[in-house]
Amino acid sequence: MIHGWIGEKLDVFLTRIGAARSAAGFRVEWDKDASPLELGSECHLCGGVRVREVRPSGSLWTALMWRSLPKLGIGVCEKCLSRLLRRWMWAGLACATSIVFGVSSALASWVVFEWLSSWTALLVSAAGGVVGFFVGLLFPGRLSGSGVGLGGNPAHVVATGSRGWIIEVASDSLAQLMRRRGVRVTECRVVERDVFPAALGGLLAACLVGGELQWYLNPWVRVVNVTDVPMVVEVDGREVAVMSGVVGEQPGAGRYVQMPRGFRVLRARGLDGVVIDETRGVVGEGRVQLYAPGSVGRCFWVERRAYGGVWQPKPEVVELSRSSRLHTLAEPIDGWFEPNPDVESGRWLSGGMRRVVRQGQCR
Ligand SMILES: [Zn+2]
Repeated sequence: MIHGWIGEKLDVFLTRIGAARSAAGFRVEWDKDASPLELGSECHLCGGVRVREVRPSGSLWTALMWRSLPKLGIGVCEKCLSRLLRRWMWAGLACATSIVFGVSSALASWVVFEWLSSWTALLVSAAGGVVGFFVGLLFPGRLSGSGVGLGGNPAHVVATGSRGWIIEVASDSLAQLMRRRGVRVTECRVVERDVFPAALGGLLAACLVGGELQWYLNPWVRVVNVTDVPMVVEVDGREVAVMSGVVGEQPGAGRYVQMPRGFRVLRARGLDGVVIDETRGVVGEGRVQLYAPGSVGRCFWVERRAYGGVWQPKPEVVELSRSSRLHTLAEPIDGWFEPNPDVESGRWLSGGMRRVVRQGQCR
């Protein structure tokens, strides 16, 4: 819920573009422990014959907090039910539109600017989500067009607390029923806003872009400097890391560096600018990739060891190509440049497979 000045301005704007409407209604404090309402047989929207009950709608906050909605049945007739169904279908479509617009605008900007930071991507995705909101408003089913006040659900949960719910009710008969039960009911204008689906879709798009896509489009590559001089690592001419040299095998040497997926030119320079290595290859293949510039004469291999009841894989040692500096590994790696622990060391007794990358002077 947005309160105060911003909320008012937002409502004015939404009303002007037809995405919000208000009607005379009631504000109800519905207690959690209140017994179910005797619903009668009428439709609480138009007074017709009730065919089904629906639950009140909730705010975005309610949805995000996984708060439950009151078990408050609102009687609806056949006609009102089909109108609500159309509005629910519209809501699903509007939500999906915001996701599609949010994610695809982030993807498009990734294609154009490969080095997009996470924050820029999220901003672009949010902008796409807003466009998706306006497109969503054009889809049919959103409005009632039948003149029964609000277009959708006549009971909308605006706040939840430990005692129960604050519900805005746009149905006279429902409010009267509640009043007769001794529930606190005050008259007020109730507002229906068509922003929930787009806001939810926008948030989902932001989660997708911020998490999965960012991770997918910018994979991590293990970079290790096995020379005795520090080097600057560049991807497509852009500096991504400065690595100090580690001569010989040292446990945990190197670090993961994020670089954009796709065909890349990886280059390593000394601090004096002299190129030590230039490798062309596809970033983002396999499970793990290792870039070891300047590793001429050094060999790399994977050691696999089974623990517990797991079968020892063959071969135990897999040599990595001597000619390439960018290695793509099909299996996950559990440790870098240290041997697998002994079977006796307790931690691995429960069983499993462990794989480490080792390095040493080529024979
Ligand atoms: Zn009805």
